[in-house]
Amino acid sequence: MDGRLIKKVKRQLSAQQKRVEKELTKSKKFPEYGNSEEDNTQEVEEYGENIGLEKKLRTLLKDINKALNKLAKGTYGVCEICKSPIEQGRLKIYPAASVCSECASKKK
Ligand SMILES: [Zn+2]
Repeated sequence: MDGRLIKKVKRQLSAQQKRVEKELTKSKKFPEYGNSEEDNTQEVEEYGENIGLEKKLRTLLKDINKALNKLAKGTYGVCEICKSPIEQGRLKIYPAASVCSECASKKK
């Protein structure tokens, strides 16, 4: 993979990493409602939504960190399952991808 693309991906991933970390900090702050029963129900529901979002963000952050790690080690862009190069078009859309599109579709 050429160095220019690697630099670009690195920049993209770092920016994404910062964004996700910020989102995670935000999702940790639970809204405060009053003490009436009705208010508490709403609070619990929103808490559930936050957990779902947080899980998604954590997975994304893990992928980003993994990709940055691979960039540092020089193994970026190789599919984790079949070890063939991940399509550049796929990496452009999702720089944190760790498997090629073929393996990704098989995984589902
Ligand atoms: Zn693959």
